[in-house]
Amino acid sequence: MITMLLGPPGSGKGTTANVICKNHKLFSLSTGDLLRERVKQTDGFGKHIANLMSTGELISDDIINQLVKEIVESDKIKTEYNGILFDGYPRTVQQAQFLKKLLADNNQKVNYVLLFNVDDDFIVKRIVARRIDRKTGNIYNLITNPPPENADLDLYQRPDDKEETILHRLDVYKKQTTPLIDFYKESDIIYEVDASQPVEKMIEIAEKILER
Ligand code: AMP
Repeated sequence: MITMLLGPPGSGKGTTANVICKNHKLFSLSTGDLLRERVKQTDGFGKHIANLMSTGELISDDIINQLVKEIVESDKIKTEYNGILFDGYPRTVQQAQFLKKLLADNNQKVNYVLLFNVDDDFIVKRIVARRIDRKTGNIYNLITNPPPENADLDLYQRPDDKEETILHRLDVYKKQTTPLIDFYKESDIIYEVDASQPVEKMIEIAEKILER
């Protein structure tokens, strides 16, 4: 099963992805997470990526597509998982076209695109309150999904979760990623999720869609 979460930054894709992947034994392929891992190597390439990410610009299609290809074609994914859940990829029409061909070459296709819809104002409020636990990767929100009290957590805020960067990321999303809605509408696999709801509700709705 190939599922894709499409929606602006901060619409709750990451949190929903974590739960759906566990429930369905899907491999969670978040290109943002892959890049954040790569940035830990502080060589020239790592610094180049870190710079782009900190401003909210996209990394070039060729780099991202290559990363994705290696994972989609790996034996581990084919044998140990029931499929892949894409979070934050594709983000451009070029990436979507690349993915379509890559999946077709591997006898697969996208089965579900969950489109997370939410207003910009809501997103800004939600993202500035987002915190991530370094140890587990769990995503919390100081307002809507606070971390448990007295838990042994090492919380941090993503450098690109500051208000001015978020506004630019939303702009990039509108220009580069919203054309994908038309791209997938043609094949009738898009399902809308109201992403202003609490995360538990979004997960419930996502699960119902995946039963279809
Ligand atoms: P995310 O964690 O999905 O919000 O991604 C964080 C940042 O990583 C984005 O703002 C981009 O700079 C970069 N990034 C993640 N996924 C992609 C992608 N599919 N194409 C280009 N850049 C990406």
